[in-house]
Amino acid sequence: MLTCKEFDDFMVDYLGDGLPVWQKFMCWLHVKMCRECAYFVREYQRAIELGRTAFDDLDDQVPDSVPEELIRAALAHRRKG
Ligand SMILES: [Zn+2]
Repeated sequence: MLTCKEFDDFMVDYLGDGLPVWQKFMCWLHVKMCRECAYFVREYQRAIELGRTAFDDLDDQVPDSVPEELIRAALAHRRKG
């Protein structure tokens, strides 16, 4: 079982599909067991989705600071907790 700190280290690769299967499974398991990390993953994915949507919908008015800020806010929230 991963600790939250370990999961934190793996998370970007986990969401980015960059992990070996067994590590991915460990992360998946942690998300299933840990409400805080599950919440964090959801927020992170939503931020990425927002970023994608923004890039899809807007041509020259891309608010590229928005997803960055959301991600940073989520990270800050996570680190404090
Ligand atoms: Zn956790």
